[in-house]
Amino acid sequence: MAASRSLAGATEIQQESGEPNPGDETMSDAPAKYIPDPDGRNADFYRHLAAGVLHLQACDDCARVLHPPRFLCPGCGSDALVFQPSAGKGRIFSWTLTHRPVDPAWAAEGLPYATVIVEMEEGVRLVAGWRGSRDALRLDAPVRAEIEPAGDAFGFLYFRPAGEEG
Ligand SMILES: [Zn+2]
Repeated sequence: MAASRSLAGATEIQQESGEPNPGDETMSDAPAKYIPDPDGRNADFYRHLAAGVLHLQACDDCARVLHPPRFLCPGCGSDALVFQPSAGKGRIFSWTLTHRPVDPAWAAEGLPYATVIVEMEEGVRLVAGWRGSRDALRLDAPVRAEIEPAGDAFGFLYFRPAGEEG
């Protein structure tokens, strides 16, 4: 069971399939992270993360890759936008360190934790969590995406150094 808070402050209980194994490495004492419930085109982006594969929106007419997701291509105005699998490779464009998380559950990441902006090989920039050491945070460092699905409609996106095993 995982609890998540809605923006209205209500608590929802989500039933996961199957019972957890006692030997699983879960942080059962840690509070659960707030799991967003995205809508619109963002919902399409996060539904792919929920399935475990990073997808980026692209224009079927002019091949431009977009992010964040839109209803019309900013290049040619087409509404023929599709989600394509991404290789998940990019380079660090910037990052920030969080010392006091708004959601206390994020303290389990270890404080301070980094949030990175990654420029993808496809040209767009993504904001994500960081799964490497702080020493590995360097501008232009090659990174690869790592996804942690959280339910049917959302997944957490992280990056780690390209050559590092997850
Ligand atoms: Zn286009």
